[in-house]
Amino acid sequence: MTEKFVIAHMYPDLMNLYGDRGNLLCLQKRIRGYGYDCEIRQLSLNDLIDFPNIDMIFMGGGSDREQGLVYNDLLTKVENLLQEIENGLPALCICGAYQLLGQYYKAVDGTMLKGLGFFDLYTEGRPGRLIGNILIESEIDGQKTSVVGFENHGGRTYLCDKKLKPFGTVVRGHGNNGEDYSEGLWYKNLIGTYLHGPLLPKNPRIADFFIKAMAARRGLPITNILDDTIENFAHQQVKNKILPNIT
Ligand code: GLN
Repeated sequence: MTEKFVIAHMYPDLMNLYGDRGNLLCLQKRIRGYGYDCEIRQLSLNDLIDFPNIDMIFMGGGSDREQGLVYNDLLTKVENLLQEIENGLPALCICGAYQLLGQYYKAVDGTMLKGLGFFDLYTEGRPGRLIGNILIESEIDGQKTSVVGFENHGGRTYLCDKKLKPFGTVVRGHGNNGEDYSEGLWYKNLIGTYLHGPLLPKNPRIADFFIKAMAARRGLPITNILDDTIENFAHQQVKNKILPNIT
């Protein structure tokens, strides 16, 4: 029987901005390409997360209102979730979901939303949204790699704990706060990021980071290499757009 990976898509009805769902389709297609099956399990408010049978968590971005609803629901799941992340559960949290992992999110109108407090970071909304295509430099398995995406956020995120590792360094765009060139957060197998877009189809190496982490946790091999000609072309096209003078 084909082994199956299960990815929990958290709050697809609430946290679903800018085609974030495309990340799941990408993971599913690539996992099948590697010879395994993949189920996307949609979980929303009040649903329980069956952690022993989940291989990865995905949560997309949402508006301030939706972030509030999700926060209240996540509070009921918080202890197990943190424990699983500590144990290396792969997780991709985009924009509004990423902000929820910190100490708090203060909206531009002053509304205060406490965060889950998993990490010593906070987010404050300011006038003027940080919008546009973004290029960052990241490192996977000791190899530098460019990552492209699209960002649109009012929140500015600051990593207080200097031991926290960003997802990457901003080459063009705004990133966490438009000031310190950091973008996102990388902790064990969790990536929090402002890159919408969707991120994974245009950055197959990041998709494979998650897939390899899932496979390693199950002791399953990834042996074949996928043909990423189209994905790499898409990546390069965005890069050309952001850095028009560099080929
Ligand atoms: N409400 C948050 C902000 O604007 C997150 C928005 C999003 O997920 N794109 O900062």
